[in-house]
Order: sequence, then structure tokens, then C-alpha cells
Amino acid sequence: MTLHTLTIHETHNLLKKKSFSAEELTESLLKRIEKVEPAVKAYITLTPEQALNEARNADRMISRGEMTPLTGIPLAIKDIISTKGTITTCASKILENYLPIYDATVLGKLKAAGAITLGKANMDEFAMGSSTENSYFGPSKNPWDLTTIPGGSSGGSAAAVAADECLGSLGTDTGGSIRQPATFCGVVGLKPTYGRVSRFGLIAFGSSLDQIGPLTKDVHDAALLMNVSAGYDPKDSTSVDIDAPDYTSFLKETLADITIGVPKEYFIEGIDPDVEISADKAIKVMESLGANIVKISLPHTEYALPVYYLIAPAEASSNLARYDGVKYGYRSPNDANLITMYKRTRSEGFGTEVKRRIMLGTYALSAGYYDAYYKKASQVRTLIKTDFEKAFRKCDVILTPTSPTPAFKIGEKIADPLQMYLSDVFTIPGNLAGIPAISIPCGFSRSGLPIGLQIMARHFAEGNLFQTAYAYEKSTEWHLKKPNL
Ligand code: GLN
Repeated sequence: MTLHTLTIHETHNLLKKKSFSAEELTESLLKRIEKVEPAVKAYITLTPEQALNEARNADRMISRGEMTPLTGIPLAIKDIISTKGTITTCASKILENYLPIYDATVLGKLKAAGAITLGKANMDEFAMGSSTENSYFGPSKNPWDLTTIPGGSSGGSAAAVAADECLGSLGTDTGGSIRQPATFCGVVGLKPTYGRVSRFGLIAFGSSLDQIGPLTKDVHDAALLMNVSAGYDPKDSTSVDIDAPDYTSFLKETLADITIGVPKEYFIEGIDPDVEISADKAIKVMESLGANIVKISLPHTEYALPVYYLIAPAEASSNLARYDGVKYGYRSPNDANLITMYKRTRSEGFGTEVKRRIMLGTYALSAGYYDAYYKKASQVRTLIKTDFEKAFRKCDVILTPTSPTPAFKIGEKIADPLQMYLSDVFTIPGNLAGIPAISIPCGFSRSGLPIGLQIMARHFAEGNLFQTAYAYEKSTEWHLKKPNL
């Protein structure tokens, strides 16, 4: 049996039946990693010994009858999520040697459920980017075509799932960083409602936007990871104290009770024709499953990108002020005095895109410009949020393409930041509004690259996402296709 190709729910049933042990499963995944990782480069750090220890622990849990749906399941964790005792770099030179002394809340929960960590997944430095090309450790490759990028910033997390180098992974999404790489790699990616999953132990980028979420091989697996990840955490003041439901209870094969809104602002000029065709076909499939389709409008959509590129860099410039060479992380050896030490540490420690964001953000927050930029952007953010509130009076979920194009070539957009920013034009509004959104596979381009469909819902209505995504997935086969590695 090829164990690494299994989904989490399939694996759970087989572990339960004792068809194989968690240790055998982990060994099989480590072999798979050995084989394909030199080509894919999904991981920054691998922790094989720790994984095997955790697997043996999981086997003991299983034999004691303490099994949960995640017991013995090997996962990849984006390298922006703190892991006690394992280097957490954020794909930056400035944190190259940073060893967290605590686990992020989410990781603690996964561990308590018996999940196994195989390693830390590659990403764009500090999650700024859409391709993983901003990683200090070099880019990951898209398993469907090794000359293209896997998306970003959670590109390593997505590539690891697509290449069967783990059974599922955690990513983070500030402006699309779970959904866009999920799309490019042909896997499922969910950004939960802001406040649904604890950010404690997540290295901050844009604190009012960041969320941790799952990347998986199918929708059922995403529900299983959400069941453990979601919930209130007193250690994160923005986490919300609302009970999380059992997300698997929404996995139904009908859409008879669902109204789907299709916003005209997302089917615009410049969108790749293959993407448009796939999204149109998906809408027809939803209709055949009983969904009521309505046309809606989100009139402030065109402002989302400029608003995001003021708010996210502003928050980043404040969050990244802590990397000064004093408390932890990289310190320049050329530290003649305190001021030159700060300057050199930050000049040498941060990459180009991170520096660009810090400069943009510092400018937008500076005296005399705050009202014109940050404050104005925050006001327009409210208009974008209100667009969604109005739309959700007419529908339960909103359906759009996840990204305007399929994956692009390595190097294609790296010299043109604006082109790079545009690949998140459809995912950013969801972060600004704080609503949940999922991306699921819905087709392939003529050149054989995966295409994804985005579904968005009201705050805390992840259940509607799971129902819509699951019903669609059950009647299509896109999620079953595998890259040829
Ligand atoms: N690509 C967007 C950016 O560069 C979003 C990143 C993210 O969601 N972390 O900011």
C-alpha cells in the first residue's frame, strides 16, 4: 500500500483497524520526502527523529484507546508558527537561528490530539509575497511543473501536500497566503474567520489580518484540522469566545438550502480565460446540486488592493520593529555602536521585499501622512466590509476564482512587485473583511496547471463553506488528480 498518498480521514480508518502503525506511516512519508524533496524544496527544516518519536507516542495512544481523528497523522507546519525546540525562521536571515521556547497554541492542540510534525515548511520571508521566491532559503517548486512557483506565502505548505510529502499542513493567510498557493498546487486551503483560530505563537505580519488555517488533500481533511485548531484562546486577545462546531457535520452532498452569490467585480478583464471557464463550469455544477445562484455586487472591490498595501505594511512596520539585534535573532557582527548595530542588523537581516514593506508602512504611519494614508485606508476597509454584509443578505456564500491566473514561472514577476501583488486581488478583500474563505480545486489550465475556486461566507459561517465545498468536491474529480513527480 502507498501510504503517503492517503488522505487524513482514510489514514485514520486504517490506523484504527491497525492496517499499519503510525511509525510505519511516518517512515513511508520520510521516504517520500527523501525522494521528491530535492526537486520540490517544500521544507526549510525537517525533524525526522522527532517525527518518529511522536509516531511511537501516537501508536501508544492508539493502543491505549485514546485515538483522535488526528492521532498519528504526519503534518507540515509553516515556518512562521512557533515550535518549541525547533528552529523557526520565518524564512528570514534575521531569524535564522531563532529557537522558540514555547509552542504556538494551535501546535499545542495538534500535538495533544496526537498529530506528528515532519518539519517546517518554506514560505516567503515574514509571509510577504505570493511565490516563495522571497524566502531567504530559496524558492519551493510547484509539484505540477517544477519550473513554476507553488504560490505564496504558504508555498511550502501547499507544495508539501500536493507532492504527498505530508498528509496535511498549516499555513497562514494575511492577504491570500493559504488560498492562492492551495489553488496553484491543486489542494484545498481554508482561511478561517479572523479570531476563529488562535494567533498565539504565530509570528506577526499584519495583526488585524493574519489567520492560521489548514491545507489538505480534500475538504473532509480540512474540517478535521479545523476541529482541532478552532476555538477561543485567552492568550490571544483577538480570538473570539464562540464555541466551534463539529465541522464534519456540515459535509453534506446537497446544496438545496444554499444561495450562492456571484459578484460581477470578480469576473474582470485580465483574468485568464481558462480560469474564467473553470469558474463558470463550477457555478453550473453548484446549480445542478440544487444551489440557488444570484448575481451580486461588491462595489468597493477595486480599492481592496491599495487598502491592503497600506494597512498590511503599516502593521508589518510596527511588528517588525522588534528585530533589532538585541533581544534575539541575527545581530550584525559590524556593531561599532548601538545605532550602527541596529542599522546593519536590519540592513543585513531583512530581504528586499520586507524592507520595501517596512518603508511603505513607516511612511504611511508617519506624522502628517497618517490621516491621508492609514486612516483613509481604514475607512475604505469599512466600506469593503459593508459590501460583504450587504451581499450576505442576499446569499449564504460568495463564489469567485481564487486567483486571476494559474501558477506563473519562477522569476516571471519577481522584478515587478505590482504584478506580484495583483495575484492576490481576489483573496485580499476576505482578509480586510475578516470573513472565512476556502479554495478548492476546480479544473486545470490548457498547460496542465491546477485552477482553484474561492468560496467566501459570513463571519464564523465556516460550516457553509464546508457544505458548499464538500458537495462540489463529491461530484467532481479534480481533487483526486496527482502531479507526476
Ligand atoms: N501576497 C500577499 C502579500 O504579499 C499576501 C501574503 C499573505 O497572505 N501572508 O502581502
